[in-house]
Order: sequence, then C-alpha cells, then structure tokens
Amino acid sequence: MLAEPSAKEALRFGDRSLTYAELHRAAGTLAATLRGKRRVAVWATNSIETCVAVVAGLMAGVPVVPLNPKIGERELEHILNDSQPDEVLREPAIELGEPASFDEPDDEAPALVIYTSGTTGPPKGVVLPRRSLKSNLDALAAAWEWTADDVLVHGLPLFHVHGLGIGIIGPLRRGNTVRHLGKFSVEAAANELANGATMMFGVPTMYHRIADEVERNPLVAEAFGKARLLVSGSAALPATDHERIAKATGQRVVERYGMSETLMNISVRASGDRRPGTVGLPLDGVQVRLVDEAGTDVGFDAIGEIEVRGPNLFLEYLNRPDATEAAFRDGWFRTGDMAVREHDGYLRIVGRRATDLIKSGGYKIGAGEIENALLEHPDVAEVAVTGEPDDDLGERIVAWVVPSGEAPDPAVLSDHVAKLLSPHKRPRVVRYLEALPRNEMGKVLKRALGT
Ligand code: ATP
Ligand code: MG
Repeated sequence: MLAEPSAKEALRFGDRSLTYAELHRAAGTLAATLRGKRRVAVWATNSIETCVAVVAGLMAGVPVVPLNPKIGERELEHILNDSQPDEVLREPAIELGEPASFDEPDDEAPALVIYTSGTTGPPKGVVLPRRSLKSNLDALAAAWEWTADDVLVHGLPLFHVHGLGIGIIGPLRRGNTVRHLGKFSVEAAANELANGATMMFGVPTMYHRIADEVERNPLVAEAFGKARLLVSGSAALPATDHERIAKATGQRVVERYGMSETLMNISVRASGDRRPGTVGLPLDGVQVRLVDEAGTDVGFDAIGEIEVRGPNLFLEYLNRPDATEAAFRDGWFRTGDMAVREHDGYLRIVGRRATDLIKSGGYKIGAGEIENALLEHPDVAEVAVTGEPDDDLGERIVAWVVPSGEAPDPAVLSDHVAKLLSPHKRPRVVRYLEALPRNEMGKVLKRALGT
C-alpha cells in the first residue's frame, strides 16, 4: 500500500517531520497494539500523529474511522454508535520502536470507514476496501503523471477522501513528501510552491481566494504559475475562477470528480485539455454512464445521472443494507450527481439530483449552469441556485446571491442569465445574503437555504 522505508521526508507539518523510515517505525509500533481489533476511530486533527495512526491501521489491517475534530456532539454520537470502534486514537504519542512486520491484508479487507459530508442527509459510513484505494491512487497517478518526485502542498482536513485518501495515502503510496499547511492560506501555499512543491489539491473555496490573490500580487501569481499541477475537487470549480487563475498565472487548474463511495471517478488529464467547467474523462478502469430515470443512456449533450462501475467502488454503507441496495442499479452505483457528456467525451457536472436539478416550465435545468452564468456578472461574488415550488412552473428558479458590493436590482441579474443562457433559465427570485452556508470543505449546504 505504501512506499518503502527510506531516509526521504514523508510528512511535514509545520516544523515537524518524519522520514519514510521513521513513519514505518512509528506506525509499526502503534500497529502492533492494534492487531486483532475490529475497528479504530482516529481523531483527525491536522497532525503527524493523525497520519501515523491512519497508517498504523492500514498496516495492521484494522479499518480506520477518521473523525472531524470539530464535530458536534450529536454527530459524534451518531458516528461512534454506528461504527462502534474498539478505541478512539487521539494524537497517539509517536514511538520509534523496532520495525514490526505485518502480512499485507487481503485487497477486499475494509481499510477505511469514511463518513460522507452529510450534504444531502445524515452522514453515512462508507466502507472502503484496500482495493479501492490502491486502484484509484494508481489510476490518478497515470492521469496526473504523478511520480515519486512530486511534493504535495496540503491544506485540507484529514477526515474525508479528498484530504486523507488522495491527499495523504496517495502521496505516501507514491513516495512523495507532503507539506501540510495546518490551516490553509494562499500565502503559505504560494510559499511552498515557490520552494519546490509541485502539486496542490484544494477545494473551490481555496481557488476562489487564490484567484483574488493572484490578481493582486505578482509574486503569488508567479508561485502558482510554477506548480506542475493544481487540482480542484469536492465541489464544482466556477469557470470564472478557473479563467481568472489561468489569466494571472498561466496555469489551468485540473478538475476532478469523486465522492466517498467511489473515490475519484473522472478527471481532466495532466496532459489533456484543461477546459473550465468540465471534469474531463473517466479514469482508467472506471466505467461511467449517464442515464435518465429509467436507466436509459441519455447520449450526448443531455443531462443524465452519473452511474459508475469499477474497482474504485466501496463495499457497503456500514449498517445500512437498505441504503447500500438502493444505491445500485444493475450493478452500477448511482452517484446522485447529474452531468452532460460533450462530444469529445468530456463530462460537465451540473449538480446533484436532489438539490440541483430544477424542473421548471417543462424543462430540466441544472443549477450549476445558472450559477456559473451569474458568477460572470461583476456584482455577484458568490451564488447558489435552487428550485422552489411554483404553481405555474412546477418549480421556479431562485438565486441566492452574495453581492460583491452594492446589491444590484434583481431584474439585472435575471436578464443577464436570460441573455447569456436562455429565457427559461432566468431566476424568478433573487435573494441577497451576506454569506452562503457552507461546510468545512466549502460545500454549499443548499438544505440550509430558504424555508
Ligand atoms: P452526503 O452524501 O452525505 O449528502 P456528500 O455527497 O457531499 O454528502 P462526499 O462524498 O464528501 O459527501 O462528496 C461527494 C460529492 O461532492 C459528490 O457526490 C458531488 O456532488 C460533489 N463533488 C465532488 N467533486 C465535484 C466536482 N468536481 N464538481 C461538482 N461536484 C463535485
Ligand atoms: Mg453523497
């Protein structure tokens, strides 16, 4: 699963670091105490100790449940009751004991139980086998031309597949150095990129801040321009931020699409066309189809639900056979996300079936497209589009807007969308807010908007 012991630096958090040799010793010592346990939870602070605890679980073949250290009482209780860990590891002391040896567990053995972000309902425990991690990390390595020479700048939390699965286990498998920023800041990331780091994985809220900063500060722009690869995921990267970063730095962000249940499914290739607003092509070994409600392929240029099959898929939702069964159709995993396939096969995510697909006046309209159009208006800083019941239209389009300055007349924004897209896509209602409700990954919580 992971690169061999060596004197190379594996992890750096602030002024603390571990080499691969030290990581193997530290994790091996802890792993010896975990042998035979059924499951352990790890209090996933941004720390070396968290990484050692996760690696120890992987070595011992004991599934790890990472916990958000800022988790609320109710959610913690839910996760602990659901996952029943034998132990909760909180930044366990690092002991560089004798290297212990472990047999490599079976590929189908559960490695992680990751709780989903809870964007659409209560978080579900996704049981991921080692096979998913290995196959997906290798497919990403091919797609991103990711080699042992890469150095990753990391500013994400460590309890989701983004920050932990591809941001920690990924580089440790490739034999990279991870430089974790603790708390993300544009300046700190730029500083690492100016000093030898080659890649960054981030979420769209980070790239929004980067877009602001690279326009103001040529040194920061130069640093981001130097990166080999900037990757965005977890939510849609607005096309405007992609273009602003490209203009100021010469660097086009690579977008990928994934989720707890599947790890990564689709990505723009490092050597491919980095088109804004698209997530590129299915990864090697991952099959993707776009289907309507009856399960029929929708072809090109039409909105369909993304269904996937492949070695990247999870085993089950913990204790939820009902939800596991409902998530599959004829062996295909139903992601709940909607997309359009362009003529060269590139996929464009339009949003979630539950919250982002608006049925208005007989049309199916993706919220994402309207959000991107509104972001092109200079008076709009942030936006989320939803549908709400309407007697005439079935649903009417509502735009929740954080204005960049003075709030414009709603008709101006509505006309802007009608002109840029088409009249039936115009928001009927515009509501102004000071900020959008978001979770720790920057995902907009559409459930929290409105009623
Ligand atoms: P829950 O399943 O509990 O409602 P969640 O789906 O947000 O929460 P995650 O598994 O952490 O939990 O996130 C996966 C989701 O993130 C995807 O289903 C998709 O909606 C969204 N996502 C990830 N990458 C992208 C992307 N590049 N563009 C648009 N959406 C994305
Ligand atoms: Mg989900």
